[in-house]
Amino acid sequence: MRVQPGNAVFLVGFIVYLGIRGAFKRRSEGNVKVVRRVDTVEKILMAIVIPGGLLLPLVYLFTPWLGFADYRLPAVAHWAGGMLMVVALWLFYRSHADLGKNWSVSLEVREGHELVRHGVYKRVRHPMYGSIWLWCIAQGLLLDNWLAGWYSLPTFALMYFVRVPREEQMMCEFFGEEYRNYSRETGRVLPRIGDAR
Ligand code: SAH
Repeated sequence: MRVQPGNAVFLVGFIVYLGIRGAFKRRSEGNVKVVRRVDTVEKILMAIVIPGGLLLPLVYLFTPWLGFADYRLPAVAHWAGGMLMVVALWLFYRSHADLGKNWSVSLEVREGHELVRHGVYKRVRHPMYGSIWLWCIAQGLLLDNWLAGWYSLPTFALMYFVRVPREEQMMCEFFGEEYRNYSRETGRVLPRIGDAR
């Protein structure tokens, strides 16, 4: 393994991140899905974002294969990355906890699905995606490698901008006026200030 403080912090955060995902995935396993929008676009997005985001950091940390993309970041970047990672993990955990059984990894609505409007969903509609934005930036600041560090940011951006309108459309179709009212009162990843998003 490449032993540098930024790498060690990233690895600990990565394990916590996967642990949170795994725990909540298990809790929502028995869910019966009543709407499932996992079409080709959704599958392509997941195939681009998930394997690269998970594998590249591990390849970077445990093999010399990505050495051609190494560069050197100042210690202050690692510190900033570490702090951002803590915030990202907290928001990632809170959004899973607040969604509870209503969480799913893709575009799905389960039987008895409730629209969550409390906790971190009170002022923003996509706190979990917000936490992933922060995670991607933290990853770039912690890993001294162009590919392993920064692959996730543009690929997640692609997923975010394609998926969010589709997710909101699905939620509007399912919850109707309730979701439209919720949208009027909240921002996507930043709280609404006055009329601006
Ligand atoms: N976009 C949200 C949730 C991501 S998980 C966020 O970033 O926090 C994706 C699934 O969560 C969607 O398929 C949808 O079924 C569910 N979902 C999204 N917003 C929700 C809400 N406010 N209440 C309940 N379920 C929600």
